[in-house]
Amino acid sequence: MTRADRIDARLQAAGADLLLVTDLVNVRYLTGFTGSNAMLVVGPGLRRFITDFRYVEQAGSQVAGFTVERAPQEFLAALREGWAEDAEIRLGFEDHRVTVRQHHRIGELLPEQVDLVAEGGMVEAERMVKDDGELAAIRAAAALADEALTEQLERGLTGRTEREVAFALEEGMRRRGAEPSFSSIVASGPHGALPHATPRDALIEAGVLVTIDWGAKLDGYCSDCTRTYATGDLPDKLRAVYELVERAQAAALAAVQPGAEGRAVDAVARDIIGAAGHAEHFGHGLGHGVGLEVHEGPRLAVTSTDTLAAGNVVTVEPGVYVPGLGGVRIEDLAVVAEGGPQVLSSLPKGLTVVR
Ligand code: ZN
Ligand code: ZN
Repeated sequence: MTRADRIDARLQAAGADLLLVTDLVNVRYLTGFTGSNAMLVVGPGLRRFITDFRYVEQAGSQVAGFTVERAPQEFLAALREGWAEDAEIRLGFEDHRVTVRQHHRIGELLPEQVDLVAEGGMVEAERMVKDDGELAAIRAAAALADEALTEQLERGLTGRTEREVAFALEEGMRRRGAEPSFSSIVASGPHGALPHATPRDALIEAGVLVTIDWGAKLDGYCSDCTRTYATGDLPDKLRAVYELVERAQAAALAAVQPGAEGRAVDAVARDIIGAAGHAEHFGHGLGHGVGLEVHEGPRLAVTSTDTLAAGNVVTVEPGVYVPGLGGVRIEDLAVVAEGGPQVLSSLPKGLTVVR
């Protein structure tokens, strides 16, 4: 069964006869196509791959099982043609991706008997469960990212700027054949209290915490990890915060298993942090899925409606951010599996001094 066959099997429950795929990550997932412009129409017995003249040749070599079409000058105008004439067709569209303007234009172009219906993320739902090839790619990205950080830790942190560490880390990932899966975060001292801090030109001082959140993208697949290091002796208050986050992270990670609800796993960490009086210092969700995108489903969060399944790849990343003092976040990337999570992040999590 191909990935597109699995979409066929989902159509009926979504109230659609065919699916229009315009999101390029979803196009890549279903076809292997890595170019920057394409759309698909997928349904039982129908596999249309539409691209522009720049990519017709590339599609010929990357895309199997689809009929490759070259779009007219106006790309979307390809949707004027290609529909069975005597039937009413409900065409699912990616309502969470398509812009209002595109939606309007597609509606104008489609023949009378084709109706657009919101499809609610069928491809994303498929993407949540990774196959062995995808798991191998994510594992390789995580290993490469860990190697690149290790190289920077060996150089030490104190006396370098946050920006220089972030740049050197990203350079190290590129040198190893990957690219950063997102802009690296290097946040030291009180700046670490900002969960999504941008690296500054400020020097990293001795005796502070440094939060480093980074990931590699290799063969299209992402990794995501966070470690927080001490650059020397820490005040007791920061040491206590570190130990709290470490404990919450370990407990939540242990709760990651097939059948667990995303919001229940989040609650494991949130309850531990709340019981220590830091509820208001943990303002983000516990974790998220990772794959072709660094943030995808399933989500581990207070508002999550997802249930974990074997083959999901999720982060577990509680944090405590104390304004004016500093922050700690510890993030692992893990495969959801029977018998317990397989952790893809290899670096130790105990409080480590890197001078
Ligand atoms: Zn991260
Ligand atoms: Zn993350």
